[in-house]
Amino acid sequence: MKMDELAVPNIEQLRHKLSQFTNELETPRSEKEQAIDTLSNYANDFYESLPNHKAYNADYAPSEKDAFLEFSEPTDLESILEYVTDRIDSKGLNAASGGHLGYIPGGGIFEGAMGDFIAAVGNQYAGVFYASPGAVRLENSLIKWAGKLVGYKEGFAGNLTSGGSMANLIAIATARKAKNISSAQVPKAVVYTTRQTHHSLLKALRINGLHECVLRVIPTDAHYRINLEELEKAIKQDKKDGLLPFLIISNAGSTDVGAVDPLRKVSAIAKEFNLWHHVDGAYGGFFLLTDYGKKKLDGIELADSVILDPHKGLFLPYGSGIVLIKDENLLLQTFSQEANYMQDVKLSNSELSPSDLSPELSKHFRGMRMWLPLKIHGLQKFANALDEKLLLARYLNQQLKELGFETGTEPDLSVVLFRLAPDKGANELNKQIVADIHANCRVFISSTTIGGVFWLRAAILSFRTHLKQVDELLAFLKTYAKKENN
Ligand SMILES: *Cc1c(COP(=O)(O)O)cnc(C)c1O
Repeated sequence: MKMDELAVPNIEQLRHKLSQFTNELETPRSEKEQAIDTLSNYANDFYESLPNHKAYNADYAPSEKDAFLEFSEPTDLESILEYVTDRIDSKGLNAASGGHLGYIPGGGIFEGAMGDFIAAVGNQYAGVFYASPGAVRLENSLIKWAGKLVGYKEGFAGNLTSGGSMANLIAIATARKAKNISSAQVPKAVVYTTRQTHHSLLKALRINGLHECVLRVIPTDAHYRINLEELEKAIKQDKKDGLLPFLIISNAGSTDVGAVDPLRKVSAIAKEFNLWHHVDGAYGGFFLLTDYGKKKLDGIELADSVILDPHKGLFLPYGSGIVLIKDENLLLQTFSQEANYMQDVKLSNSELSPSDLSPELSKHFRGMRMWLPLKIHGLQKFANALDEKLLLARYLNQQLKELGFETGTEPDLSVVLFRLAPDKGANELNKQIVADIHANCRVFISSTTIGGVFWLRAAILSFRTHLKQVDELLAFLKTYAKKENN
């Protein structure tokens, strides 16, 4: 039905017109059932095909097939999923693959996809307790669980974000608010980082109006951890110079090399000088589920704010981060805002609402995708999978040494740095190795440059990565080691 104009001469004609609309966007049950069957086949075929594919396919070329992206006639789901399989799933980096050992992988667990489906069906308004007490209660229980995992006691708050970058953004906004850094003070405010600090934090500083502050990049030790003496020295000097030290940023597993800063000691320094201590645990935070991780991240509970990335360490599909703030009042002061049309909302306040704790109002009910996998599997299986990653990293590190590769320091968590180091042309050789791996190996790794040295890095975190994939990488690298040693 087409309408040329909205003007309607009288109410009868309006009623007549309205009676001609049908509910054509509501799919009948039988068709929904069929669609779910089709989807189920797609999902199972996808999962079953994973071992047969390279983790990386460098095919970025456009295709005539992409005309399919335009809207023309209504299209059946089968053709759509064919396009998805052909033009989306099999191109670029396959983040669901167990052979993905680049950047920081996670895998994307099936139950996370189910959680998204359930959340989207019910379409709960998960930003406000008044609108969706059940969804908000579930999300708040996840925040409580994550806070306790980190070691926070009572009075903390947090938010389920879309990822680590948003979580860092919220933490930095809260730190600025907590330390009352006015615009006039920004040029004197000092933030302490290391070269290992994730770039999303530099972005967060910029977005929070802190780009004109003083950024002190503190030197690291041989393990890429912050040098405490240098940190303390810098703070003292800055104070003496009339500056305003206000924030220290630590890594609980840096993306680059997996380095964990001495969190307890950094917190002691932060406390002594009255600075905010933020811990970026986007990559490493969930190792707290393991005994090793608990020891390695000792003291994390002393930090003023912590972030975690369930789409890394809990293997969820992308779109899941967590920010935790030790003092819930500071998070509320930073993000709660009243609005006239929201006046009814104040009636209920037995639980905190996510909309008072983050920039978002309407939001995805993203708690379901995190809660469902944990509920279905139980926590122990996640801890086991993380233990496996820690051991795989140690295995890879050891085997690489035996093959004649130079490795970085013993991995703090599950990132392994390595390279072949002949007397001349090491950087070029290793660049060539990574290019060759991308073109010809089923396993994918990435690289980094630290202090001018080009390193290959394998980040083992996907729940689908096992001995098989690591051995496959080693078998590929062996040919290189042989060539170089001959
Ligand atoms: C991945 C990562 C981030 C950014 O998180 P996103 O979820 O990618 O936005 C921040 N810090 C560290 C240490 C990370 O590994």
